Amino acid sequence: MKKNKQQLDDLINIMKKAGFLNDNKVEAAIRKIPREEFVPTSLKERAYEDTPLSIMKDQTISQPSVVSRMTEWLDIKEGQKILEIGTGSGWQTAILSYLVGHGMIYSIERHSELAEFAKKNLDKLGIKNVKVILGDGSSGFSEESPFDRIIVTAGCKKIPDALLEQLSEDALLIAPVGKFQQSLVLLKKKDHEIVEIKNQPGYVFVPFLGKSAEEK
Ligand code: SAM
Repeated sequence: MKKNKQQLDDLINIMKKAGFLNDNKVEAAIRKIPREEFVPTSLKERAYEDTPLSIMKDQTISQPSVVSRMTEWLDIKEGQKILEIGTGSGWQTAILSYLVGHGMIYSIERHSELAEFAKKNLDKLGIKNVKVILGDGSSGFSEESPFDRIIVTAGCKKIPDALLEQLSEDALLIAPVGKFQQSLVLLKKKDHEIVEIKNQPGYVFVPFLGKSAEEK
């Protein structure tokens, strides 16, 4: 336990020195949600490295610095309703769940093994404000739309129109966009228009797949 605390402190220092993790609330969430509970047993020793790690089905738990940047840009408020596409291990989901408090996270994952892995990980921590949905999230989740925030955790060639249509007024959407390398793109719905707020190149994600992900 003491060792994990030291490893977490070291990770946080590394991220801060590299210019990540500038928001106290996001730092509190990263401190609160133990990454070692979201990696396979064989990788627990490496849970506090600032690197993506293999989970299952050729997918990865995202790199802590990237999770912190995406979460900070999303500027989450208590009580919000969030759609996450690409649950993976559920670690990012748990961080979102901490930040929304009494709000709600809908998280869609296309691999059943990962959806089950994430549910188990979230249950272990007693997290109740998350619904993990098995399926193709490329068309969003119209049943619960509109959303205050949408986060896509896999690299999209183009952000599907269906996701933009499921944003409420003043809502934010973040997604890594690009074919081989991605830029993190932050969009806002303002006066019924979609406006780009931030765009930062230099990221590499596993691909976003699915029916609407293939749209030109
Ligand atoms: N942030 C996650 C974590 O902390 O563990 C890791 C997400 S991983 C980088 C991206 C995930 O997106 C993978 O689990 C992949 O199966 C999923 N994915 C890709 N395309 C999808 C789609 N159309 N619908 C749902 N999930 C999708």
